[in-house]
Amino acid sequence: MMKTSLKTSVELKGTLQDAPVPALVRIPIQKNQKPVVKKKQIVGRGQVVAETKCISAFCTGYVHATIDGMVEDILPNAIVVGPLPAPKEGEDPQMPVRPEPCAELDSLSGEDLCRKLLELGIDTNKFHPSRTLIINGLNPEPGVVVSEQLLKDAQKTLEVGVRILERAVKPGTVKIVVAEGKNITLYGCTTVHASDVYPATIDPLVVLTATGVERPDNVDIISVSDLYRVGRVGETKLPLLDAVVGVGESVYRVLTGTPVQDLLNVAGVPYGADWKIALDGPMRGEAICDLTVGIPENCTAITLVPADQFPEVQPNPCINCGECVLACPARVQPGMLSRYAEFTLFEATRSRHVDACMECGMCTFVCPVNRPVMQFLKLAKQHLAAQDEFTASCRLQS
Ligand code: SF4
Ligand code: SF4
Repeated sequence: MMKTSLKTSVELKGTLQDAPVPALVRIPIQKNQKPVVKKKQIVGRGQVVAETKCISAFCTGYVHATIDGMVEDILPNAIVVGPLPAPKEGEDPQMPVRPEPCAELDSLSGEDLCRKLLELGIDTNKFHPSRTLIINGLNPEPGVVVSEQLLKDAQKTLEVGVRILERAVKPGTVKIVVAEGKNITLYGCTTVHASDVYPATIDPLVVLTATGVERPDNVDIISVSDLYRVGRVGETKLPLLDAVVGVGESVYRVLTGTPVQDLLNVAGVPYGADWKIALDGPMRGEAICDLTVGIPENCTAITLVPADQFPEVQPNPCINCGECVLACPARVQPGMLSRYAEFTLFEATRSRHVDACMECGMCTFVCPVNRPVMQFLKLAKQHLAAQDEFTASCRLQS
């Protein structure tokens, strides 16, 4: 087993920096978002490029162009916006239209405000009216410092975020959970201290610490990054355009869709061709093999893993040692579930509570034979979800 600290708190070395505007962006879109632009269309910074297929005010936010430019491609998972074309001889350059600041943001409340936030790019599906709201102020994973950086450098924006949520969802109580020993407060929030040793920092365990109850149904939890996004929209009154992402010891505010390669160039962090690179942290992040991929708005870090630092994860046979069971905070049996998933016995994982898995990655981390245990469980969950969706869509033939 590799030796690495699971402590997530750090002594911050720098301040939040702005990354430069890239020449081209690949703005990620999700399955439930429908592009509303065409190829070769000129778009202005902040213009809607994809809408969410949802009638509720509580849903995934709309997607916006993050630079002025021309739509170069519309892919199943991204909209590519490149530079504005040079004007033809004798013609005026095409001027992109940018949206005006949303003046009504200050006067709206309740569901109307949630709907407006959604249109401005906020994922409102994380909020429900009148529940207790917990802000997870712990850094999400070892080596990912965005939460502490934002709490240090963006207090004003976070305060705007709390004020907006007070009007939008009218939470009963607002608590912020921070690391033991840290003197951190936030406007309107009661401070609660918790362990900063992973996996205690993941949302379900933070809720347990803050409320004393497992999976309570009257509590919403959001990250500091989520709150920052609300505050950023409230401050600018413009659509959400940026993500806050850590690379090495630095944290950048970067336009959504900026290619990973561009941010790595800005950060100047050395890495080898055989290193692993992941979006988000080392425990839960997703490895990427293409550095042109655009940074999603909810990305917290670009993690660089040297080739010789960690053993290669491979589907080696489980030796039934039980290490993953001891490490699992959800108290399921990851080794057994991973074996069912490996042999496509997905239905067997359902009755053995695969849905209780919090996707913390501890099982993969401790496995002595380096099985991708959590990844097998995620595969099982995806299959079961797809199967349920299909079943729900079935109609009796008349
Ligand atoms: S990822 Fe593994 S250790 Fe974490 S909750 Fe799921 S099964 Fe348990
Ligand atoms: S830690 Fe790995 S080898 Fe041990 S029981 Fe879990 S999956 Fe199997």
